[in-house]
Amino acid sequence: MISVEQALERVLAQVPLVDIEEVSVAEAANRVVRADIHSNTNLPAFDNSAVDGYAVRSDDVRSASAAAPVMLRVSFEVAAGAAAALAVEPHAAARIFTGSPLPRGADAVVMQEDTAREGEWVKVLDAVRPFENVRMKGEDVKRGDLLVKAGEWVTASAVGLLGGCGESRVKVGCRPKVGVLATGNELQEPGNLLEPGQIYESNRITIAALADKAGGIARSYPIVRDTLTGTSKALEKAFAECDVVVTSGGVSVGEHDHVKAAFEVVGGKIDFWRVAMRPGKPFVFGTIGKKLLFGLPGNPVSAFVTFLLLVRPALLRMLGANDVRMQTAYGRVADPLRNDGDRRHFVRVTLGKDGMIRSAGPQASHMLRSLGKANALLDMRPGLALTEGEIVPVLLW
Ligand code: AMP
Ligand code: MG
Repeated sequence: MISVEQALERVLAQVPLVDIEEVSVAEAANRVVRADIHSNTNLPAFDNSAVDGYAVRSDDVRSASAAAPVMLRVSFEVAAGAAAALAVEPHAAARIFTGSPLPRGADAVVMQEDTAREGEWVKVLDAVRPFENVRMKGEDVKRGDLLVKAGEWVTASAVGLLGGCGESRVKVGCRPKVGVLATGNELQEPGNLLEPGQIYESNRITIAALADKAGGIARSYPIVRDTLTGTSKALEKAFAECDVVVTSGGVSVGEHDHVKAAFEVVGGKIDFWRVAMRPGKPFVFGTIGKKLLFGLPGNPVSAFVTFLLLVRPALLRMLGANDVRMQTAYGRVADPLRNDGDRRHFVRVTLGKDGMIRSAGPQASHMLRSLGKANALLDMRPGLALTEGEIVPVLLW
C-alpha cells in the first residue's frame, strides 16, 4: 500500500495540462492564469487629489493656521474626469475634488475641512506639506509591474487590480470536464421513496460541488448498478465526454466491486490501488490515454477526503495552478486527540472562530453528520497523541 504522498506524486506525474483560452477579466474570476500579466499603465495614471478641497502651492500656505489664515484667490475648478488645462499661479488656488487631476503649478491639496470659502477667495486654515493629499502617478502600480503571475488564481480582488489597470482579456486554463459516477445496487435518488435495503445516493452531488470548486465542470451521470457490463458502459460514455472521471463505490474487494475490472475492459490502465490512509483506503487511480480515472471509495466521508487529498490537486495542476496543496491554518487543540490505529487518520474537526480545534464528532467513514459539521481535517499519523492546548495545523477546504 502506498502513502498519501506517493499516491499524490504518481497522480501529479500523469496529469496533462488543459488548453489555454482567452476570456474577459470578469469571466477570469476564480480561474487560473496561464501567462504572466504585466501592467500596461501606471496606477494612478496621473497625479490626482485624494480629497475634496483646493489645489495649492504648498509654499504659499506654509504659515497658514486657524489663527493666521492665508487668503488665496480661487481661479478655476477641476472636476473629476476633466483635464486640468490651466495652471495654479502663485497666491491662487484651484477648486478640486477627489480623483481630479492635480493642475500644473500646484503641489498639494488643502482639504475642504481646513478651509473657509468666501466668494472668489478661500481662507486656508492649515498648512500642507508638498504632495500632501496628492495621489502620485504610479505610486500603486508602475507600467510593466507584474500584476498576476502564471499559475495564480484570479481572485475577486485580483479582478479589481486587473480592471483598474485597464486589462480586458486574460489567458486562463480551460475548465476540465469532470464526469461524476456513483456505483451501487443500494443507491436511490434523493426525493424518491426508499425500498428496503436502499440508501440515498449523496456522493455525486458532493463530488460535483468539490469538482466545480476546484475549477472543473462537473457532469453527473445516472446511478450505475453493480454489474461489470453496466459499469463498463457507464465508464465508456463518461470517458467519451469528459477529461476526468470520478467514480464512487465499487473499488473494494467484494464480488460486487466492478470499477477496476470495468476500467480495464474499456482500455484503461490502473496505476495504483489502495492508499495508506483513513478514511479512504480503497482508492484507485488509472489512466486511459490522457484521461484520468479516480475511483473513490463509496463511503461518503472516504469519498470526500480522498477527493480533497488526491483529486483536487490533480484538477488544480491540470489548470496550471502552482500551488495544489490544501490551505492550512493553525489552531489550538481543545481536547486531547490520539490516533491509536495503524493508518494515517484525517480527522474531521472544526476550527472555531476562537482558534480552537475540536473533533467534529464520531469519525467512522459512513458518518455524514460530523462531515457536515467539520470545516477542516487534522492530519494524524499513527501513534500521534495531541494534548490539550497544543498548536497544530489543520487542512481547510
Ligand atoms: P462500496 O465502496 O461500494 O463498498 O461502498 C461502501 C459503503 O458506502 C457502503 O455502505 C455503500 O452503501 C456506501 N455508498 C456507496 N456509494 C454511495 C453513495 N453514492 N452515496 C452514499 N453512500 C454510498
Ligand atoms: Mg458498492
